[in-house]
Amino acid sequence: MEVAKSFFTTFSQPLDIKEVEEVFCNYCGAGEFGLLCIESGFQIRECRRCGLVYVSPQPAAAELPAFYDGMYADTSDEAMAARSMGAMEGHLKRIIRKRMPNGGRFLEIGCGNGRLLKTISDLPIELTAIELSESAAAYARKAVPHATIIDASIDSAEFPPQSQDCIAIIAVLEHVKDPRASLTKLRDWLAPGGAIVIQVPYVQNFIRVKRWLPWLPIYFEAPRHLFDFSPRLLRRYLEELGFVDIRIEIARPYASNGPIGAALIWGVKGIGFAIYTLTGGYIYPFAAATTTHAKLPG
Ligand SMILES: [Zn+2]
Repeated sequence: MEVAKSFFTTFSQPLDIKEVEEVFCNYCGAGEFGLLCIESGFQIRECRRCGLVYVSPQPAAAELPAFYDGMYADTSDEAMAARSMGAMEGHLKRIIRKRMPNGGRFLEIGCGNGRLLKTISDLPIELTAIELSESAAAYARKAVPHATIIDASIDSAEFPPQSQDCIAIIAVLEHVKDPRASLTKLRDWLAPGGAIVIQVPYVQNFIRVKRWLPWLPIYFEAPRHLFDFSPRLLRRYLEELGFVDIRIEIARPYASNGPIGAALIWGVKGIGFAIYTLTGGYIYPFAAATTTHAKLPG
């Protein structure tokens, strides 16, 4: 059995989870929920109090390292290149350049094959990353030789307090067991005035629409993804941690999966961008993923 995947997801992940655990809402702690759908046998719940969308029961923490090992089984250049068509990295580079006008230390949480690091490697900044998959980290080290890439997860990594000027966490927060604890850790590593860049999926509206359009090839991808963050909720997480100047944008498409996949994803994104633009950058119903950037006062 494999994790159900959306048409734009370029890799397969075997699904062999033995130990699961019931969790409460990560944002507000409430246990009451509405059932959004069931995917691969996992319940996707919506918190009745705050609206956070999450998987419960979800794989126990001990299951995750082996589960993610399968994600980078193929480290050929072709397989790695297929994972992104570059639009996403270009967008992130513009944000990082704007958020680091004086250079400084950049840290990426979960750099995967190093594609973003490579894209920003000509900026006058110091590059460090952590990566849980040893095969992906080895690939990234070769791709970006002057970056420091550490084999670690967000839970095991340690950096001195206030030691980073910008931290990017791209397509990672939806995989962690405790997003609140992870974001708090990142906040503590940032220097005053430091910036955070977060990219997360936002597919909950597609999941709602699927009640009437069951053929829609977009999935939550449970239990690989454990959370789906609405822009409203992401803003609340960041405000509570003291971040200011919070900007939330529709993420640019990343994977291509061939020309038909690329046309489809630009089509879906096009609708999202149209509604987003028509509402003055306020409504993101079909964003599929959002890119959020903010900074600490200072
Ligand atoms: Zn809640």
